[in-house]
Amino acid sequence: MKTNASNAMHAAPSAKPQEDPKAPIATIDLVNLRNYTRETGQPTHPEMLDTAPMEHVKEIEITEEHITIKYNERISRTYNTNEITHKEWEYKYNDDAEMVRAVARVIDLARRHLKDLPENVACPPGCAECCSGYEPFVSRADVQRIADHFGMAFNDVLTQHVVQRKSADGHYLGYLKKITPEIESQCVFLKGTKSGRYYCGIYSARPSDCREFTPIGCEDVDASLPRAGSFPVGPPFVPRHPRGMRNGRLR
Ligand code: SF4
Ligand code: SF4
Repeated sequence: MKTNASNAMHAAPSAKPQEDPKAPIATIDLVNLRNYTRETGQPTHPEMLDTAPMEHVKEIEITEEHITIKYNERISRTYNTNEITHKEWEYKYNDDAEMVRAVARVIDLARRHLKDLPENVACPPGCAECCSGYEPFVSRADVQRIADHFGMAFNDVLTQHVVQRKSADGHYLGYLKKITPEIESQCVFLKGTKSGRYYCGIYSARPSDCREFTPIGCEDVDASLPRAGSFPVGPPFVPRHPRGMRNGRLR
């Protein structure tokens, strides 16, 4: 999808700055915009203009003719598929050297401010908001790793700790159970300390989904937790072993 940002730059260089994007546009501006639509095929009707701010820029591509910025990526999660959509702003500059220099300056500025990335780029010790409201999918290898960790049989881990729903390609066997059926409920393996901080009860054996989870841009971070230092975690998660097993061994 293309936004109107380039339209405005191309079509209405003499337009007065407008506080309200929905405010009536002067006739001459509309004529310019319509001409622009005719030339480029990009929408310029006020109702079709996307005036949402550009956030979470994912990719900037500069070629000899275009600047393309992909931003505002959204991920819709369904059971075993993730639909990723993003918005795209494209500016065709041809010989607009001033525009190129301006974009280059913005990119340079962003690079120099990399240190200003969201402060939750590292999780504060004890935060585990993502271990609630999020269901890590488990593959055969994940279940086996957890089974080895507990000294349990593969199938026992599967029945005790996994909501079984095979993915279409058979890679995932399901997702980890929660302590209650509510989606925002905690992962069965999540443990907490008296201090109110959380930790993973199977950390070394946690599923790949948890290992690969990235905190960049995480909006659920528990901001009340101190970032400095660490905290001693408590005992690990102890499974309810199936009959006939104790500490992973047959009795
Ligand atoms: S900061 Fe985000 S990713 Fe890290 S533990 Fe908290 S909720 Fe999870
Ligand atoms: S397995 Fe550990 S890291 Fe993964 S969701 Fe459960 S408690 Fe969190």
